[in-house]
Amino acid sequence: MSVPPSDTSKRPTQAEAEQAVRTLLRWAGDNPDREGLHDTPARVARAYTEFFCGYEIDPAALLRRTFSEVEGYDEIVLLRDIRFESHCEHHLAPIIGRAHVAYLPRQRVVGISKLARVVDAYAKRLQIQERLTAQIANTINDELEPHGVAVIIESSHECMTTRGVHKPGVSMVTSTMLGVFRENSDTRRELMAMLNRPAACEF
Ligand SMILES: [Zn+2]
Repeated sequence: MSVPPSDTSKRPTQAEAEQAVRTLLRWAGDNPDREGLHDTPARVARAYTEFFCGYEIDPAALLRRTFSEVEGYDEIVLLRDIRFESHCEHHLAPIIGRAHVAYLPRQRVVGISKLARVVDAYAKRLQIQERLTAQIANTINDELEPHGVAVIIESSHECMTTRGVHKPGVSMVTSTMLGVFRENSDTRRELMAMLNRPAACEF
């Protein structure tokens, strides 16, 4: 279900990546040899390594360490407002947003930072928001086998604000509901109430 990483044996070298950036700079109408652009190809290659580091991460492996001594805790676990940065696969433009991830555990729980890491592992790839949402939910569902998983993502797509239709201030909301969150409207309502509750304190 996760997107197969590119065949690394065919992966271009850093020099080839930098050459490609020089081509784009020339295509934009500038001169890659002028002083200000001299180090730009190397910087862009480094930035790409950071933007797309998710291909190197196995999201499922992040969830393999679980805890079962939870004193019978059987209510919703919700991690709200996980900020993420991704890139749209159509324009390579940033997608900046927040994810809310919830699950209803079946005995096993996972360290909460791991949920945020799963979000990042998929966000740091070329994405469309619908797939990002589904991938996060499906991975948690497959690995933790909880009673249900809910993932809600709100984000702004720079390809819509800085080009094309030029509509700033528009946010896109997607959700994937699995198990009890899909089947049971009471559980879904409880989740929405938790999501809408103001933060109890400034942390
Ligand atoms: Zn786009």
